[in-house]
Amino acid sequence: MRTPETPWSEPPECGADTPSGMVFDIQRMCVHDGPGIRTVVFLKGCPLRCAWCHNPEGMDPRPQLLYHAAACVQCGKCAEVCPEGVHRFDAETGHRLDRSRCRACFACVDACCTGALTRTGRDMTVAEVMAEALRQLGDKASDIQPILVSIDPARDTPQVLADYVANFGPQFVGLTGTPDQVKAMADAYRVFYAKVENKDDP
Ligand code: SF4
Ligand code: SF4
Repeated sequence: MRTPETPWSEPPECGADTPSGMVFDIQRMCVHDGPGIRTVVFLKGCPLRCAWCHNPEGMDPRPQLLYHAAACVQCGKCAEVCPEGVHRFDAETGHRLDRSRCRACFACVDACCTGALTRTGRDMTVAEVMAEALRQLGDKASDIQPILVSIDPARDTPQVLADYVANFGPQFVGLTGTPDQVKAMADAYRVFYAKVENKDDP
């Protein structure tokens, strides 16, 4: 358990080789699709194409522009700053977007003062995700024991894991187990995982 001397107000230190991912949401108080009350981190680049998907913005691995028509007051500011001519207006159809031209510079997001245009997807390190998740918990963060679980015991031996979690601060604990134990844990939390061979791995 962390102590009062290790506050969460600052992101934990981490190594330069800390992995990162394209995050599109971090949700508190999730009580569906698994046991307990959890903070869930949503990553872009989902390879599944479920017909009932509630988060289609998670499919594309890149940052994307979102448009909320109900919030648009058709001021035209987005068209003024867009270098690609994505935003068009006419009397019949109102504001239309030619998304095939968008190169995701997000100048229009900065220009839009109503929140009709937003960016989804931000590259975040593990440390940044942990810091944000704990920040959302406020004072209750002091009750949290952060745990990093490896699902690759063949590569992440206890020593490798200990060296890795040391990058995040003394309050972090690393866990792994036998392949059967890891599978039991993943099944209990409804986690899907698969090993992908990388030619750059040592
Ligand atoms: S800047 Fe925002 S509110 Fe104005 S037209 Fe563009 S999307 Fe609509
Ligand atoms: S993100 Fe950039 S290129 Fe895409 S619509 Fe906005 S201003 Fe134009």
